[in-house]
Amino acid sequence: MRNREELEAREAQILDRRAVFAVKSLGRRLPEIEDALRTCFQRDRDRILHSAAFRRLQQKTQVLPATTGDHYRTRLTHSLEVSQLARSACLTLGLNSDLAETVALAHDLGHPPFGHVGERALNKLLEEHGGYRHNAQGLRILDDLEDRFPEGYGLNLSWETRLCLIKHQVSEDFPMSPDLPRKATPYLEGQIVDLCDRSAYVAHDMDDALRSNHVRWEAFADLALPKEADEKAREKLDKLCRESGLAERPDERQLRRRRVSTLVSILVQDLVRATGQALKRARRIQDCEEARKEPYIAQHTPARQEEIKELLQFLNEHFYRHPDVYRAVQEATARMTQVYNRILAEPTLLPDRFQARIEREGLERTVGDYVGGMTDRYVERLSQS
Ligand code: MG
Repeated sequence: MRNREELEAREAQILDRRAVFAVKSLGRRLPEIEDALRTCFQRDRDRILHSAAFRRLQQKTQVLPATTGDHYRTRLTHSLEVSQLARSACLTLGLNSDLAETVALAHDLGHPPFGHVGERALNKLLEEHGGYRHNAQGLRILDDLEDRFPEGYGLNLSWETRLCLIKHQVSEDFPMSPDLPRKATPYLEGQIVDLCDRSAYVAHDMDDALRSNHVRWEAFADLALPKEADEKAREKLDKLCRESGLAERPDERQLRRRRVSTLVSILVQDLVRATGQALKRARRIQDCEEARKEPYIAQHTPARQEEIKELLQFLNEHFYRHPDVYRAVQEATARMTQVYNRILAEPTLLPDRFQARIEREGLERTVGDYVGGMTDRYVERLSQS
């Protein structure tokens, strides 16, 4: 049996000196007795996993509204995919895979219903009250809105987990915990999550674009990354069939799945290789604190970076802004705006717990917190009532 002390001792043996070590964590806002079995980051992960905000991700838009079908990505499956990629990359690089997993599971908690279109709408509604940004809102949920600890302490997570979730500059008027900086470069584990986030969504959004018939494979086939993934996937499948003596050749569906997993492997392997080399070059950096004072050390090779950009641009034009996809998300967002305005006009519609926050947080912010936390399905239901 391995208890926490043994897990921490193991980290000391296997992690790179620039990784974040659980035993050296700067701790929690409310000091707690350490868990007997889990490291502080494993404990953070479990708190996130058991939070209501995490469960609501299952019904939040990734690209297609979550009510579109059962097999498209939602924020939940996206977060799980990111976490799996980030864990693999960190294990290979000697970074703390528990911290990466924790950060990945939490990285999209602040997303409102209906993805980035929903986020823009809510940001506009809260324009005079600090705005709405999913990254900063994610921290607000973990630090305050999840009510597991006394008022204002949220899930009482470790400093390192929280710091890794500050990705963009948070505006001065956005309400956040005063102990956090409004801009920070994350630890290496957070940087890996950030890059795995992008790798995961270019790959799975390509898959959803094909699965939903919004984009045909022929349209992707000339782009560098899909083309390479296709060639490698065919090669692998053909070899498998040949060596196993199977007469049938893989069909289009099998090929589609294989392309996505191949694309993900290409990107993660590139990330590990380029970051590994960057860590070698950065010999003078002694620990995780020094590492986060530098520009991003986690990186892709420049060539892959360009290819990712190309694919992303294509997805943006042909999938995210596909007239049918865009219309569906915009109509849904208009319903979210109606729900927001209705509650703003009649605050007694808020649950008691939120009504109790109005005096301290202001009415708009409280309604924004409540509506931002809703699932796609809940907005649909409220807009019909
Ligand atoms: Mg994400």
